[in-house]
Amino acid sequence: MADVKRICLLPGDGIGPEIAAEAVKLLEAIGELEGVTFELTEALLGGVAIDETGSPLPDETLAEARDADAVLLAAIGGPRWDTTDPARPRPEQGLLGIRKALGLYANLRPVKLFDALTDASSLKREALEGVDMLIVRELTGGLYFGESAREADVDGASADGSPGMLAYDTMVYTEAEIERIARVAFEAARKRRGKVHSVDKANVLESSRLWREVVHRLHAAEYGDVELLDQLVDNTAMQLVRMPAQFDVIVTENMFGDILSDEASMLTGSLGMLASASLGDGTALYEPSHGSAPDIAGQGIANPLAMLLSVELMLRYSFGMDAAADRLAAAIEVTLAEGWRTRDIADAWTLPQRTVGTSAMGDLVVERLRAPR
Ligand code: NAD
Repeated sequence: MADVKRICLLPGDGIGPEIAAEAVKLLEAIGELEGVTFELTEALLGGVAIDETGSPLPDETLAEARDADAVLLAAIGGPRWDTTDPARPRPEQGLLGIRKALGLYANLRPVKLFDALTDASSLKREALEGVDMLIVRELTGGLYFGESAREADVDGASADGSPGMLAYDTMVYTEAEIERIARVAFEAARKRRGKVHSVDKANVLESSRLWREVVHRLHAAEYGDVELLDQLVDNTAMQLVRMPAQFDVIVTENMFGDILSDEASMLTGSLGMLASASLGDGTALYEPSHGSAPDIAGQGIANPLAMLLSVELMLRYSFGMDAAADRLAAAIEVTLAEGWRTRDIADAWTLPQRTVGTSAMGDLVVERLRAPR
């Protein structure tokens, strides 16, 4: 029987449909080369879903997503739907809603420097040599999901000592939540260079002390072959710019991961190059780390590479097609090494005739993928 993989494609808003078209082109080529049929179903999410149905996450979209083997999202949002009125729907609700509904507790962000783009980074070339890390961020617990509230008329809470307002957020983790994210990190490390940095704030936070205990317990019981190092989050923030090549896999809680992954994204020089995978117990979701770039939407100049790298992650984590993923990564590497650039990653050395638009960049990658090996 033919090997069929069902993908729910969510093109979304802004440059979303432009970069989604390149992913479709790429999947057709990979399907032919690998003897796999990718069955794509398009669904609505974000602003476009609000326009057509009134909801940023229509029920049909969620049903399609649950039914698929993987979800591939381009980008959502834009000024057209910006509102401060809490009663009106916002595109981001679609994204948070689908993550929650699919139970996506692990966010994986690879940060790999492409040799050809070293000069696009804000760090010096020497500091960047060998940067190739995976940040595993816990996505459904911690400070962003703990109890939070404001209290009024609290004695002594205002600056002059009179009653005033206070607010609090709580960081809560269960052993089960910590163990399942640590497992994702150890498994990923086994497929990479076998090293995990577990990042916490165990010198101050009780939730971090539990984090450390659980990570070590799991390591001792099942992952003795993986090297485990603890690092305090403030130190990690510093090490990421001091010596980023020391990291293979970083695993950390939700807010630390949010901040560290944005910091690490700057190592590669461009948002247009970063993909992410969100994994849970059911269907996983793959998406570029950037947004819908409304400032360049409709011009055919968006960088499709983060979207194509999202396809690479999907091949690896949802379909177990590691060899095909490696070939795709190599095709992108070659395209860049030959000097092809979209405008966002072009520099003073880029030849004008090698500065290309979205669709041409997609074609170049597909051509190199098909090139005889
Ligand atoms: P953005 O990532 O869309 O854009 C930031 C800058 O990077 C812009 O100058 C843009 O032109 C550029 N850029 C981004 N992706 C690019 C690409 N592939 N090629 C070339 N240039 C690229 O962030 P923003 O401007 O803060 O947000 C715009 C909209 O996107 C907002 O509505 C925001 O809510 C939404 N957003 C969505 C997601 C998502 O879908 N996951 C993530 C972040 C922001």
